[in-house]
Amino acid sequence: MLAEKLLLNMLITLSPILLSSVLMDGKRKFNSPIVSGLLHSTAAFACMIFSYAKYDFTWDLRYVPLVIAFLYGGPVAGGMVFATIFGGRMLIGGDTVVYGLVNTVFIAIVPILLMKKFWHFAPNKRVLVTTGIGAWSLLVCYLSFTAHQSFVGDSLTLNFNIPDILIVGIIDTIAITIAAKLYEGLHERSRMKEEIQRAEKLNTLGELAASIAHEVRNPLTVVKGFLQLMQQDEKGKNYEYLSLVLSELGRAESIISDYLNFAKPKFEKIEDFSLPNVLTEVVMLLDPLAVKQGVQLESVLDSTDFHLITDRNQLKQALVNLIKNAIEATPESGKVTVCYQPSGTLANVTILDTGKGMTHEQLSRIGTLFYTTKDKGTGLGTSVSLRIIEAMNGKVSYKSELGIGTEVLMILPEGKKELMMIS
Ligand code: ADP
Ligand code: MG
Repeated sequence: MLAEKLLLNMLITLSPILLSSVLMDGKRKFNSPIVSGLLHSTAAFACMIFSYAKYDFTWDLRYVPLVIAFLYGGPVAGGMVFATIFGGRMLIGGDTVVYGLVNTVFIAIVPILLMKKFWHFAPNKRVLVTTGIGAWSLLVCYLSFTAHQSFVGDSLTLNFNIPDILIVGIIDTIAITIAAKLYEGLHERSRMKEEIQRAEKLNTLGELAASIAHEVRNPLTVVKGFLQLMQQDEKGKNYEYLSLVLSELGRAESIISDYLNFAKPKFEKIEDFSLPNVLTEVVMLLDPLAVKQGVQLESVLDSTDFHLITDRNQLKQALVNLIKNAIEATPESGKVTVCYQPSGTLANVTILDTGKGMTHEQLSRIGTLFYTTKDKGTGLGTSVSLRIIEAMNGKVSYKSELGIGTEVLMILPEGKKELMMIS
């Protein structure tokens, strides 16, 4: 029966993928185009052997491995399957051999043309494209079949069984879609494996860098202490030099502690405090900087109180970094506004500036470690703030328009009393 033969064909066309999924596990050489070509060629040949002969034609799923091999295995694998089908069809012979050969060429053209573009598509689109090419192969077969029927003078309506063509269409489409889905699964699995390895490497590097930073900080503190002592006895030029050295040492120290803070935000003292109070304190703290830059720093705070239970100093640090960035981005006579608005168990804190804003590309890089556009910038401030807010289960989002300004929205959840018990 046609359906039985085609279901067997379906199993045959899927077996190379299942086999390579077993063989590939950890071994790259099984992923090679030659192996893929060999497996799919065998499948295509087996399909041709276990085909169903009716209406002068042989019905099978040989074009499924052909399309799949070109798209997922590359030109070498595809070429091997093409040669197998071509050679195999000539070997089998018969009256309709020319149709078989012409079909193979027509069907192979589309995946060959699409091969380069194929990997630029998203996974779901790749599956869709593969199914589409499967439909194309069916159309080619149907057209050549119709051509043959009219050539030999057979009336289609007399001799042709509609359910048969439906069975071929449905089984072929299912087989090619499942094959594409299975390949996508394999691809995703190997991509995830690589990603995990990369993440592990980065994690180790990060830990190493943090321990080095920690080791460097101690001698720096000692050097700074002694230089401060020496400075007391110096006058004139030496005094100035030492001041410079001390300020640069201070900078190095703050970079290291920022980095360490990023690597592991330390919540030392967990307490229950009022968010609007902290915002007022931070705005007061940064007012001198704003005045120095000629920027107006304003706060618009809702009168409803909102309590957080976390490390107050860490939150302050996060806010200082973000508001400082807003002030630094704003030109003279610009304005920075800090707003607070509670909404249920969440608090919205917005930092608005009328500064230079950011391009789309800059916006996508914000929060990346060491990303800075400033001469003396460290590129740590935003990353540290994001890490701290994240550790508080909060969220930060940026909106910015070049030349108009930036809006930073922080959403913080209300503190839960149980948290205080744990810590
Ligand atoms: P740094 O301040 O040392 O440069 P940050 O991590 O604090 O490092 O900021 C990274 C970069 O993000 C800044 O150099 C700046 O280009 C950009 N940036 C951050 N906040 C704003 C803002 N409010 N407006 C415009 N650009 C900003
Ligand atoms: Mg900064």
